[in-house]
Amino acid sequence: MRGWRRARLTGRTKQTATGRTLVFEVPRWPGHRPGQHVDVRLTAADGYQAVRSYSLAAPADGERVELGVQAAPGGEVSPYLADDLPVGAEVEVTGPLGGWFVWTPQEAGPLLLLAGGSGIVPLMAMVRARLASPSDEPCTLLHSVRSPDDVWYAAELDAAAAARHVRVRHLWTRAAPEGAARPVGRLTGADLRDLPPPADCRCFVCGPTGFVEHAGDLLLAAGYAPGRIRTERFG
Ligand SMILES: Cc1cc2nc3c(=O)[nH]c(=O)nc-3n(C[C@H](O)[C@H](O)[C@H](O)COP(=O)(O)OP(=O)(O)OC[C@H]3O[C@@H](n4cnc5c(N)ncnc54)[C@H](O)[C@@H]3O)c2cc1C
Repeated sequence: MRGWRRARLTGRTKQTATGRTLVFEVPRWPGHRPGQHVDVRLTAADGYQAVRSYSLAAPADGERVELGVQAAPGGEVSPYLADDLPVGAEVEVTGPLGGWFVWTPQEAGPLLLLAGGSGIVPLMAMVRARLASPSDEPCTLLHSVRSPDDVWYAAELDAAAAARHVRVRHLWTRAAPEGAARPVGRLTGADLRDLPPPADCRCFVCGPTGFVEHAGDLLLAAGYAPGRIRTERFG
């Protein structure tokens, strides 16, 4: 049987029009690895329960647990978490969950992270862990988003990109900022040129199913080894 823990919402930050960072305090949280997720359980007054998965957005930090929630239009749980759950209120979480889509700074080699929309959330935990580690091996994040208004963690990623070994590139799919060199459109093979050499690179891909499948195909075509590509679909 899974163990559920009380999780108290201590803060909410707007990332985009529909994306929010939620910070919870979870007593006796056991810690986790970048890439893992939790299941969040909501219980209504009449006993009805709903459970959804949310990725951990930051490396382990005591009882502080950070999630990133994209409000899905018409969704049952995500719009409530994103905007309605009051700060100070409690939900339940179980986890950490997932043992495949994980990375720790002890793993050597370059990192290539491909995110579609809110798929950035678990990859942000990896970027933060890499920045906090002494390693100066290359870490490249490609984030596919509709427009500059849809960028998550904008200030933090700008600062991260100033680090010598971290590269952050946004791929605009609908509207680009003025002067952007890359044409607007979805990820293509051309976006993977000039990246860490395939041989020893670890790749993590996260986002909607269509994005993940497309990105995985492009990575294979570019010579990245199947065993070094790990994917997570948000559905
Ligand atoms: C491992 C994992 C990690 C995840 N991490 C994150 C994360 O970090 N951040 C994040 O935001 N999400 C994440 N997700 C997705 C998340 O678990 C939820 O699926 C998401 O928040 C939507 O839940 P919801 O209850 O709001 O929507 P749901 O109620 O489950 O509905 C999903 C979509 O289907 C539509 N829909 C529902 N019912 C119908 C119907 N009858 N007819 C037509 N359309 C319908 C809704 O409008 C909505 O757009 C993750 C998923 C997995 C599996």
